[in-house]
Order: sequence, then C-alpha cells, then structure tokens
Amino acid sequence: MSEIYFDNAATTRTKREVLETFLRLSEDCFANASSNHAMGSRALHLLERARAQIALSFHVLPQECIFTSGATEGNNLAIKGVSGHCRSWGRRLITTKAEHPSVLEVFRQCEKEGFEVVYIDYDKEGNLDFDQLEKALDSKTSLVSVMAVNNEIGTVFDLRRVFSLVSKSRAKLHVDATQAVGKEDLSSLCYDLLTFSGHKIGGIKGTGLLIKKKNVQLDSQILGGGQENGFRSGTSPVPLDCSLATALRLSLSSQKERRRKAKALNDFLRKELSLLSEVTILSPLSASPFILSFALLEHKGSIVSEALSQRGIYVSTRSACSSREEGYSYVVRNAGYDLRTAQNAIRLSFCGEEGIEEGEEFMRQLKEILATTNKER
Ligand code: PMP
Repeated sequence: MSEIYFDNAATTRTKREVLETFLRLSEDCFANASSNHAMGSRALHLLERARAQIALSFHVLPQECIFTSGATEGNNLAIKGVSGHCRSWGRRLITTKAEHPSVLEVFRQCEKEGFEVVYIDYDKEGNLDFDQLEKALDSKTSLVSVMAVNNEIGTVFDLRRVFSLVSKSRAKLHVDATQAVGKEDLSSLCYDLLTFSGHKIGGIKGTGLLIKKKNVQLDSQILGGGQENGFRSGTSPVPLDCSLATALRLSLSSQKERRRKAKALNDFLRKELSLLSEVTILSPLSASPFILSFALLEHKGSIVSEALSQRGIYVSTRSACSSREEGYSYVVRNAGYDLRTAQNAIRLSFCGEEGIEEGEEFMRQLKEILATTNKER
C-alpha cells in the first residue's frame, strides 16, 4: 500500500503545472521587473498579468493585491500595518482565541506596545461569541481579525455576521483565509484585508497574497525600492508570483469536485471513527469538509500518530506551524474541551483528490494500532 498523506492543512504537494510556470519563467524571463529595458518590461508585464488574473478571481482590483511570501507575512503586514497606521486614535484591536500563531503572536506583540487586544471566545460548534464582539467594538477599535476556517478543527466562522458588525464601526476587518481559499466559496465574502498562502493550494512554499482593499491604509513593514506599491519592497520574485496565479487557477477550477470528494471521505471517516468508543469527534458537522479532527480518550494522540507514520500514514497532532511546545491544542481547549482531549487530538486534512480506499486503509491501520498499543488509562 502506498503512503497516505492526510496532512494537507499543513502543506500540499506542489502541482506539476505550477512548477513548470516557475521553471519556465526562471529560465526565460529572469530579468528584474524594475529594470528599465525590454527584458525587464517583459518580466513586469508577466507579473502584472499574474496580478490581474488573481484579482479577477477575487473580484478585486489588481492594485489591491500585494504578493507576499505567505500567510505569516500577510498576517503580520495586515495587523502591524493597520494598527500602526491608526495608532493615534485606534488603541483597541479585536481577534479570536482560535487564530493561528501568525496572528496571535502579532497581537501579543501589539499588547506589549500598549494596544488593548480583546480575544473573542467560540464554542464547540464554531459559533463566535457575538455579544463579546459587539461589546468590544468601540470607536477606538481600528482592526478586527477573524480567520475564515480554523486550521485545527476546521470550524467555519460566520464572517458575514462579523462584517455586518465591523462595517458599522470605524474598524477594518482582516480575514486569514489560508484554510479557505480553494476550498470555500468566497465570492460573497466581505472583508477589508485577506491573506492566504500558496503552498496550501498546490503552490510553491514562499508564495502568498495579501488583498488590501483600496479604502484601507496601512504602514509598510519592509522598506526599500518601493515594489508592490510600496507595501513590500524587494526585487519581485516574478516566477514565484506567476506560479501563485497558476496554483490559484488550478485550485479554483477543481474546487467543486475536490470539495465533493473531500466531503465523501470526511463523511465516511466521521461515521467509522464514531463507532470507536474512545473517539470524540472535534470538528463540528458544519466544519470544512477538508478537515476532520478527533480525540482519543484512551490512547496518547502523539503515540498513535507516530505509529501511523511508521506505517506510512501522515496526520497531524497539533498545528504543524506551532513552534510553542505546549503539548496540547489551544484551539481545542478554547472550544471548551478538557485538557486531556486537547492533548490527544489528531487532525486529518485532505486535498480532495483522495479516494474512499485511503479512508478504509486508514481505519484498518488505526484499529490495529489501537488494539495493540498500551492504553493510557
Ligand atoms: N493561517 C492559517 C490558518 C494557517 O493554517 C497557516 C499555516 N498553517 C498560516 C496562517 C501560516 O501560513 P504560512 O506558514 O504559509 O505562512
């Protein structure tokens, strides 16, 4: 049996066509897009064509798209950029307790710099505490940051309702859409800023985008030659940026079919896992079909995931990008589960190209491991 990769929320396999775009442009169009000669102009033309293609997919203007190295950079730029720009009047910032560290750590830094940050609660079903949000939003709030889809349990937050509240205030709404692009229908999503990473959608690591609507003002964090409209200086990585446009095109054109397949696999695994008495399913029914998180009550999640790995099955026990070794998932804990559940959570995440056979093989191997591994209590 070949390997089973159920860790697509951490990263995805790079698509061949994406690599081909990168390779072709690296060889044929390597000039600096800021250079004042015909070859530089060609590179600039390709860069702007890629930007225009991406803009069209999001129904935004090309000048609203800022190429970044990924969601971490985009999140940093959005949060530091807006909070810094509005510092004279905006002392309060709002986010949720479910955010990725690339958002939470930036807000912690903001707190050290004197901002007041309000962290909104959510429940097991993925409902945000809208009373808290409504009370927190005051005339001194400059930014609200809420993720579209949680990376650990797949909860889909009600951004329509968030935006309707935020838009009544002076604050801007930033959405970390890293786990939503290429998976959720974002066509009617309202926001002021949005970030995502290329490598979660079949793109190359080191690519990403920040959409900043034209009514939003933010301070640049990287100064220099003024590329990306002055918001991100540095020689434009044209082959990488163009490869992001290819990745996005492929991801969006296959989204419906991948979503259907991911849902079929998710439904199958959810049903099978529910039959095991020691399993608690953590992803609510309304969660993204691309993520299925569960906890083991009698076995250690890390030991089971290690045993799966030895059998060529790759899953995740906590957010792969979390560098803090807390030993439990704060996302699961903050949803209202006990520490033990949060310590033993396992996340399966799909790209939507997997078949049910892979789910069947996963269940066979998991059952074998649970039957042969010592119980924790
Ligand atoms: N936000 C979310 C929701 C994520 O899942 C991730 C990656 N796990 C990031 C931000 C950061 O993305 P990157 O590591 O590509 O910068």
